[in-house]
Amino acid sequence: MIIINILYVGIDDTDSPDGMCTTFLASEIISKLKDNGIELIDLPRLIRLNPFARHKTRGNGAVSFKIPLDEKTDLAKKIILDEVERLAMFDCDNTNPGVIFYDGEITHEMVDYSFRAIYSFITIDEAESFAESIGAEVHKFKKGRGIIGSLAAIALPLEDFTYELLAYRMAENYGTPRNIDYDSVYEMDKETFPDTFENIDYNEGYIAIEPKTPCPVLYGIRSNSLDSLKRAKEMVKVLEPMHSYCIYKTNQHTDMHIQKTESIASMKQYGCYEVVGTVKNTPKIIDGGHMFFYVYDESGEIECGAYEPTKNFRKTVSNLRPGDVLKLYGGIGEQNTFNIEKFQVLDLNNIKYENPICECGKRMTSAGKNKGFKCKKCGRKIKSSEKVPVEIPRALEVNKFYETPVSARRHLAKPLCRMDF
Ligand code: ATP
Repeated sequence: MIIINILYVGIDDTDSPDGMCTTFLASEIISKLKDNGIELIDLPRLIRLNPFARHKTRGNGAVSFKIPLDEKTDLAKKIILDEVERLAMFDCDNTNPGVIFYDGEITHEMVDYSFRAIYSFITIDEAESFAESIGAEVHKFKKGRGIIGSLAAIALPLEDFTYELLAYRMAENYGTPRNIDYDSVYEMDKETFPDTFENIDYNEGYIAIEPKTPCPVLYGIRSNSLDSLKRAKEMVKVLEPMHSYCIYKTNQHTDMHIQKTESIASMKQYGCYEVVGTVKNTPKIIDGGHMFFYVYDESGEIECGAYEPTKNFRKTVSNLRPGDVLKLYGGIGEQNTFNIEKFQVLDLNNIKYENPICECGKRMTSAGKNKGFKCKKCGRKIKSSEKVPVEIPRALEVNKFYETPVSARRHLAKPLCRMDF
């Protein structure tokens, strides 16, 4: 058996809303390492962390990869740190890169830390003391906030995972409209979905592989398999030169941010949960197009939201009735509202109670409190005040899942086409 000593590398917080992307910076490092005869062990990893982290630029992603620990390690470390120095967006106040080198075993404590980075908040000091406690080498640039994510990206286990192929632009094209042949994206999706997914938002006519920011990414294709990813890349035509591309193994679309909880009362702000609840009221839409309703269980109740960007999902939500039982997935944001990512209908309240129909065919009206019903047409009276159950047709189906559209979905949210994974 060949035992390879491994150097784990974690990199985070190198980009800003005006440019750069930590995955591109990492791919530049990987190519420089290669030029110097240093090959990665396995694919690099793109790890999405707590979606509510305060200082994130966009999707709270950090990158990690492994290289052999050998006589070239010092050179590798120099290349990595020099590239961060050269490419990170230091002018932005909110860009505080952090790099971690680690050459030991991945311990339980490290795994726990990485889940904490998905489920809760970690301070720079906490991350630094933890890195010291495990003997990791810490490199902080400016405030060095990136060490929080870098450490987590190194240690997070990936039981369920997906791949993302990220294609990058030539520097001279940054900030200009991307030149992607959309027809070829539709063709690619037709051929490779559901092995690849999140390519297109058909409801919104939105090409989801194309970022809308001025970053170096030309497009990103997400997939369950490397083969379909490579096939997809061959099919997508771009009408501008491509700088390079890199395939990442990721925790995107695995629902790793979702914690199962037994009770509504145990859910906390900035947590993401799977919870069962009963619909309390008919969903209401407010100015701005956001839709809200409450769900409850025996422990308490919470307001659920389907926000305007979830577009047609709100139409689905509007079909809910009090008494429907749902399994809901989502996160509790700043307003303390549970933002729904998807839900499964466990039970539908498809009965409503109405006044009885008279023998003459006319619906009866109340004859007064506890005085039964009377028919205004033929004058017939009945003593019972019990309304009669009437089955109502429902647009929703029991057991079926309903999800937000691609354009409004979090990186970590598992789409329905992956629910069997
Ligand atoms: P992009 O997706 O474009 O790469 P980003 O959204 O990943 O950008 P970063 O620039 O990486 O944003 O900034 C996120 C910052 O939040 C990093 O410094 C990271 O270390 C930190 N961070 C990540 N997870 C947590 C957490 N759980 N608690 C506190 N800080 C965190």
